[in-house]
Amino acid sequence: MNAEPALDRPSDASLRAGRIVKAEAILVAIPFHSDAKPVWNFTGVPKNTFDTMLVRIETENGFVGWGEAFSRTEDVALKSLIENRVFPLIIGEDAAAISKIKFKLEFGLQNFGRVGPTMYAISAVDIALWDIAGKAAGLPLVDLLGGAFAQHVNVYASLLRYDDQEGVVAATHQAISRGYRHIKLHEVTYPEIAAACEAAKGLAAIMLDVNCPWSVAEALVMDARLADLGLLWLEEPVWPPENYRGLARIRAEKRHRIAAGENAGSLHDFAAMIDAQAIDIAQPDVAKTGGISELLKISTLCEASAVEFVPHCALFGPGMIATIHINAAQRSVPLLERLYCDFEAELYGGRTVPTEGKLAVPHSPGLGIDPDSDVIKDYRIN
Ligand SMILES: [Mg+2]
Repeated sequence: MNAEPALDRPSDASLRAGRIVKAEAILVAIPFHSDAKPVWNFTGVPKNTFDTMLVRIETENGFVGWGEAFSRTEDVALKSLIENRVFPLIIGEDAAAISKIKFKLEFGLQNFGRVGPTMYAISAVDIALWDIAGKAAGLPLVDLLGGAFAQHVNVYASLLRYDDQEGVVAATHQAISRGYRHIKLHEVTYPEIAAACEAAKGLAAIMLDVNCPWSVAEALVMDARLADLGLLWLEEPVWPPENYRGLARIRAEKRHRIAAGENAGSLHDFAAMIDAQAIDIAQPDVAKTGGISELLKISTLCEASAVEFVPHCALFGPGMIATIHINAAQRSVPLLERLYCDFEAELYGGRTVPTEGKLAVPHSPGLGIDPDSDVIKDYRIN
């Protein structure tokens, strides 16, 4: 019995994937609602839409894979980079040669950035190729990664920034009423953080992500001030994100477990973080840090380094689906991050909306779910 809808793949699943014949970048922006005031303010321009930068790759044998590049604020520059710098390097390649294609892209584009949009684009291609590999094998991605430790992943509600006590407390109560038992705040001032912790007491664990606002000196003050709140982790307390010595200085106080990594570009950045003793929790993002292939390497490094592996996921497309599979394939089954907001339309027909703080691991081949073509048509902006 399989209630999952048909995927974009030929009926003869014994076919090899074949060569890549077509690649397309599709930028979708879907309005959301979160009660946060101001609405998500990523680059100084308040927005109430989230981007999903889809990469669709098609092979000569009719397989279609879907990937995602991290994107915000209707990023047409990223789309142009994907189309003009990345796609010409993959057309004609054997889609099964995932590592070889990834190396070709990374080596060829090394001068255009080892962190940032170039790596986001490479990440998207990697995810799409793994989707194709699963579809060609007739297996869900989680099985290609060694198999599932769980059929569901626990999700944490990653609240947007409210900047006011009433708003963050209301969102905390609502998330708890929807069944979440882990909630992450993006507040940066003490009254809001303390109020949300009080609201969640005994009902949900609270993590705090401040997104790199403080000098090391400022972070040390806040680290001490927050110490009694029982936070599960403190994420990215110092500026800039690659200030691993600064993170290590905060971590040395042993008041909080330190989480970071969403702004890293590759395995080697995590090696540097771990060498600096900067982190307790590594947070690579599958749509930023080199895709599924790179996250597998990072998870292995973490296992050998006594660092917890909890991927970052501020994604709503194939990157989120890939993260579900990756998390389910870890013995620790890390919590899945999902930004806490409700969308005007669902790219996956509601199957990525958690129930009681959980999401099922898709079991159809590849990522196991393809995005809804009608939603793409309605919300495509470029
Ligand atoms: Mg974060």
